[in-house]
This record gives sequence, structure tokens and C-alpha cells, in this order.
Amino acid sequence: MMSNFEPLIFEYSRSNRKGYSLPKLDVSFNIDDIPEEELRKDLNLPEVSEVDVVRHFVKLSVLNHHVDKGFYPLGSCTMKYNPKINEDIANLDGFSFIHPLQPEDTVQGALMLMYELGQFLCEISGMDAISLQPAAGAQGELTSIMIARKYFEEHGEARKKVLIPDSAHGTNPASVNLAGFTAVEIKSNEQGMVDLTDLTTKLDYNVACLMLTVPNTLGIFDQELPKIINLVHSKGALVYLDGANMNAYLGYFRPGDAGFDFVHFNLHKTFSTPHGGGGPGSGPVGVKEYLAKYLPVPVIKKHFTSSGEEHYSLIFDVPASIGKVLAFYGNFLVMVKAYSYIRMLGAKGLKEVAEIAIINANYIRKSLEEYYHLPYKNICMHECVFSSINFREYGVRALDIAKRLLDYGLHAPTIYFPLIVPEALMIEPTETESKETIDRFIQAMIEIAHEARENPQLLKEAPWKTPVRRLDEVRASRELNIRFIRH
Ligand SMILES: *Cc1c(COP(=O)(O)O)cnc(C)c1O
Repeated sequence: MMSNFEPLIFEYSRSNRKGYSLPKLDVSFNIDDIPEEELRKDLNLPEVSEVDVVRHFVKLSVLNHHVDKGFYPLGSCTMKYNPKINEDIANLDGFSFIHPLQPEDTVQGALMLMYELGQFLCEISGMDAISLQPAAGAQGELTSIMIARKYFEEHGEARKKVLIPDSAHGTNPASVNLAGFTAVEIKSNEQGMVDLTDLTTKLDYNVACLMLTVPNTLGIFDQELPKIINLVHSKGALVYLDGANMNAYLGYFRPGDAGFDFVHFNLHKTFSTPHGGGGPGSGPVGVKEYLAKYLPVPVIKKHFTSSGEEHYSLIFDVPASIGKVLAFYGNFLVMVKAYSYIRMLGAKGLKEVAEIAIINANYIRKSLEEYYHLPYKNICMHECVFSSINFREYGVRALDIAKRLLDYGLHAPTIYFPLIVPEALMIEPTETESKETIDRFIQAMIEIAHEARENPQLLKEAPWKTPVRRLDEVRASRELNIRFIRH
């Protein structure tokens, strides 16, 4: 029985076992010369061989599901496969060993990369200026709302409200509150789009901004964007686009052209950086010219020296700026990965990203619509949202279906979100998956639909095959027990 559990690395420890050896010192050295307080004699490290270490961590690495191991259709999160070449580029010494306090002259390449990435993102979004500083999508939202606050302050207005559709991402209202505004919810209509009557009713001169997640969390692209934007602008308010899911329209739709005033990106979703484990992200903010002076400092400027050479500088002296939102210039290596991804795909490749993301999601939508309730019938963008309410009579919930999928070696979709869909199953296949992989997922979902009717208990007790069975999730996060690992 115990052989089923992976011990802690400390339990492999045997006195004097080594995983490395160093050459003999070629200088004279006496350990007694080191002051007592600098010697960490109490340092408790496992004494293990290299093979112990490698096997231990390889075993651990396959206990969890991850995108290098299998399909990961977690809606809204864009868990696409991240090409390894991005990691290779980010690992180049010139990128990974530079220090943020190095003199500007010695990091011209890094500044050029950030400058060019900013230009690419402006081109992609139709915006005029950019900050790469925010560390995540949510921080990009917060930064943007702080920019809106500054904009209205400078215009001598004290607007207090930000409108957010009920189909928006959950981080939107949180960012709005943090920036000192009040979030006001706008209803969706039967097509899952902004209810124009509700918008008109709630729109007044106290509204600073409308935040629109595009596509919204139902995976639907709002058909009335021009009308919505005009309405909001007619009251002097700004229109913000949450662009975390831009893989749905890269190269096909530019928020700036449609009249949006500002936007954030999720480099770690759309532009391919591994995420989901709490690692570094990047949520750049793009703005139109009239908002550029409020962007966080430093901003990167390109100019030419007297001898005609390109030179990049970090400009800190921007009086109207909202200030800094993160240490140094942001998460630089995430920018390197996004840069590498954009350069690798080029304009044509980025358009294909959107095409395949949409085709894959609609393929799933059509293939599963006779098995799962589909609350909104529209053609979707990069994701589709089902509901498991058709299994309610068998006592089967979305959670049970999600857990059962794990037994098929597949990650579960996002569940219970968006909130306007009861028992939601929000599926985002992403553009990196083959038809064979997606077919395996569809087949698993169909089998689970049959199981739900014929043997609901099988689902309610799932998962059966994972290292740990169904957890009390609240307790598991409060009372972490890393020893309970079976493989
Ligand atoms: C993921 C996501 C966010 C938040 O991004 P984080 O990087 O997780 O902070 C915001 N909006 C939408 C639509 C998202 O999908």
C-alpha cells in the first residue's frame, strides 16, 4: 500500500549520499576561519543522489494535469500549448542574466525588444501607445481604470460609476472597486449580448467607463458594438475592451478601429506563456493618443543619436502619468516569449490563430449540442458554454461531469462560470489542438452524457483514477497535505 505514495524528498535522504561532487579547492582554506554566524550548520537539506532527485521530480511532474501532458479546455483561460522555442529564446543569457538596474547603454537590445513588442501590440489592437508594465490581465484592468480616473480628474469631473455587463469576466468588477469606482451591472439579452435598453437606462454623466469583455464570457462577439460605443461616447464616457481572449480575433478585428479608447492584453494567454500555476504573466495596456500621457512610467522612447544611431531610453518624467504599477519595467521574460511568438507566426500566422480557435470551438459546440443543453445558440468565437441542467433529474451536476473528465485523462472545462448560465460548462479548446485530440474530448463528453443517465453514481464519486480522489476543496487548501500522493 505504501508503495502507492511518493515520499517526500527528505525521506530519500541517507547520510553522506551525494548528487554532485566539486573539484578540490586550489586555494588554502580552513573551515574554522568562517565566523560561526555565517556557517549554516543547521541547514537541513536532503542528502540524495542525482537519480533520486530526477525520479522524484519526474514522478511528481506527472501527478497533476498540465498542458504538456494533455488537453486542457479550461474556458476563458486559453490553455494553449506553448511552443518550446519561446522558452529557448527567453533563456538566452542576454535576456535572462541582465539586471534591471544595469545602465541603459548596456541593455539596448532588451529595450528595443520591448519597444518593438509595444509597436506590434499597437498594430494588432489599433491603439496608439502602450505600457507593458502590468503583471497580469487583472492588473491591466486596474491600470486602465486608474488611467480613466486620472483622465476625468484632469477634465475636472468626478464620475463615480463603471458599467460592466453580467457576461464580463469576474476580475472586471474587482478592478473597478479597487480603483475606487462603483461597478454597475448591465443585463444581457436573449442572444447573450449587451441589453441596449438596460445600457441606455443606466448610462448617465456619472459613468466614467463601460468595460466590455470581447468576446464576452459566453464566447459571443457582440453584434451591436458600434451602437454601444456611440451611446457611451455620447455621454462623454470611455469604452474599455478586456482583450484577454484576443486569440478569438487576431488580425480580424482591431478594438482601436471600432472606437474603443483603451484595452488590455493577456500576453500569457494570447501570446503564449505557460500560466495557470501562479507564474509571471503580463497584461499590457494599450491606449489611444489622448490617454497616452497617463500611462505608467517608465515609458520606452526611441530616438536617434547625433551620429544617427537608434537609441532606446526609459522615460520616468511624465507629469500626468498614474505612476508605477510594478517593480522595474514589468515581467520582461514574458515579453520576450510574446515577442518570439509574434515574430515566429507573423501577421498571417496570427490570423490563422483566430481562425482555428473559432473553428475548434464551433466544432465542439455543434458536436455536443444534442447531448448537453446549449443556452445560447449563436455561432461562438473561441469558446462555447454548455449547461448540464439537462442532467439535473439524474442528480448529476456540472462538477460531477468535470470530475469524471479527469478519469478520461482530460482537464475539465471551467465550471459555474459565467454566472448567468446555471451549471455552466465553459469549453475553450484553443487553436493548438488537433482534430484527433478534440474528437477524443467530444467522445469522452458523449460517453459521460450516457453515464450520467445510466450510472449517475459513477459521476458523483468521480474521479476514480487520479492520484487523489474528490477533495473537500476548501479544507484541502486550508490544511494542505502534500504527503497524500498516490501514483
Ligand atoms: C483571464 C482573464 C482575465 C484576468 O487575467 P489574469 O491574467 O488572470 O489576471 C481578465 N479578463 C478575461 C476575459 C480573462 O479571460
